[in-house]
Amino acid sequence: MDIYADPAYAMATEQFQVIADYLNLDSNVRERMLYPKRAIAVTLPIHRDDGSIHTYQGYRVQHHLAMGPTKGGVRFHPGVSLGEVAALATWMSWKCALTGLPYGGAKGGVTVNPRDLSLRELEALSRRYMQEMIPFVGPHTDVIGPDMGTNEQVMAWFMDTYSVYKGYAVPEIVTGKPVSIGGTTGRREATGRGVVYLIERAMNVLKMQPDQCTAVIQGFGNVGAVTALGLAYKDGMKITGISDAFAAFHRADGIDITAADKYVNEHGSLAGFTEADPISADNLLTLPCDVLVPAAVEGVITEKNAGQLRCRILAEAANGPTTPAADRILFERWNDIFVIPDILCNAGGVIVSYFEWVQGLQQFFWNESEVIDKLFRILEQAFTAVTKRARDAKIPHRVAAMAIGVERVLAAKKARGLFP
Ligand code: NAD
Repeated sequence: MDIYADPAYAMATEQFQVIADYLNLDSNVRERMLYPKRAIAVTLPIHRDDGSIHTYQGYRVQHHLAMGPTKGGVRFHPGVSLGEVAALATWMSWKCALTGLPYGGAKGGVTVNPRDLSLRELEALSRRYMQEMIPFVGPHTDVIGPDMGTNEQVMAWFMDTYSVYKGYAVPEIVTGKPVSIGGTTGRREATGRGVVYLIERAMNVLKMQPDQCTAVIQGFGNVGAVTALGLAYKDGMKITGISDAFAAFHRADGIDITAADKYVNEHGSLAGFTEADPISADNLLTLPCDVLVPAAVEGVITEKNAGQLRCRILAEAANGPTTPAADRILFERWNDIFVIPDILCNAGGVIVSYFEWVQGLQQFFWNESEVIDKLFRILEQAFTAVTKRARDAKIPHRVAAMAIGVERVLAAKKARGLFP
C-alpha cells in the first residue's frame, strides 16, 4: 500500500507474506489480515520557547480490532513516518496474539527529536498529540504506552490531558505511567526483565553457563540498560560491548554497567564515557560474544552483516532489528545462532502494560513479585510454544512465533465473520 511506503513496512509485509505462504492462507484473507484497520495523521503546532510556532507530524495506526482494544506505544524520533508506525502496529498484533493478550496491535509516533525540545516544549507536544487523538482512543478502543523517546512523564501528560477532557481521572487510557497515578510496579523494567528471562531460557536449552558468557548490547536506553544490568548482576555475564545513538564501546574483560548507567543518567548519553575503548557502531555488532542484543532501532542486522555475526544467541530486544534478507542468512546458520525473535523477545513490555490496564480497570493493584511471577509464566508459555513449533516443523523461530500469532488473529476474525 503506497501510503505506508517505508523500509520498515516493506519488512513487515515481506515477513507476513512468508507466514501467509507457510500457512497457505487463502488469498481472500491475506489483505484483510495485513492492512491496518485505521491510520490517523495529525499536524501538531506548538509554541517554541523563542516565541515561534513549529508544526510537527504525528501518527497513530490501529492494526486490527478483532480481539479487543488496540494497544501500542508512542515513539518520538526524527525517523518516524506513517509507514514505520504501521509496521510497528502490525508487529504488535502478532506479539499480542502470540502472548495471548486480548488486544490488536497499534502504534503511534511523532517525527521529532525530543532532545531538541525543552521540557516545556516536550509537554506541549505530548499534550497536543494526546488532544488530537482523543476522538480515536480510549480504554476500550486503543490504549497508549511508551516507546522510543517517550517515558513515564510523557505518559502522565497523556493521561492528564485525556482525563481533563473527560472530567475525571482515566488512568487506564495509558500504560507505563508513574505508580503515583495508577501505574504498575515493574513496568519500567518489564521489557528488559523479559529479555533477560528469555536469554536465560535459551541458555538453558543450549546448556550454556551464563556466568561464563559474554554479551554485547546495542542501544543503552530503557530496554538495553535494564537488560545489561540484569545480565551482568543477576546472571554474572560479562558485558563486553555497549552503544547508543552517539557512541559505542568495547572492553574484553567486561564493562562496568553500573558506571555506564550512572554516566548516561548524568550526561544523557554514552558520549564521552571513558571506562571502555571506543569502537565503531558497525564493528560492535560483529564482536565475538555469546549473546548479541540489538535494543535500538529497526533494520540493523542486514544481509551485509548477518553472515559475520559471531554470537550464539541473537536476542531481538528492539522491534524489527533483522531484515528479511538477513533472516534468510540466519536460517542457513540455524545451528550456529539461536534467534529469539522480536515479537517474543521484547513482549515483556506489553505483557506488563496489559497487567497495568487490568489493574486500572479493576482499581485493584498487585505487588511487584505478583507482576514478575505472572510475566514469567506468560513468557514461559510463549517460549515453549515457539521453540516446540520450530523444532517440530523445522522452521525458524520467527516463522514459528509469527505463525502462532497470525493463526490466532485469523481464528478471531473467522469466528466474528465479515460484516455486513
Ligand atoms: P529508549 O529511547 O529508552 O532507548 C533507545 C536507545 O537506543 C538509546 O540509548 C538511543 O541512543 C539508542 N539508539 C538509537 N538509535 C541508535 C542507533 N542507530 N544505534 C545505536 N543505538 C541507538 O527506547 P527503548 O524504550 O529502550 O526502546 C528500544 C527498542 O525496544 C525499540 O526498538 C522499541 O520499539 C523496543 N521496545 C521497547 C519497549 C519498552 O517497553 N520500552 C517494549 C517493546 C519494544
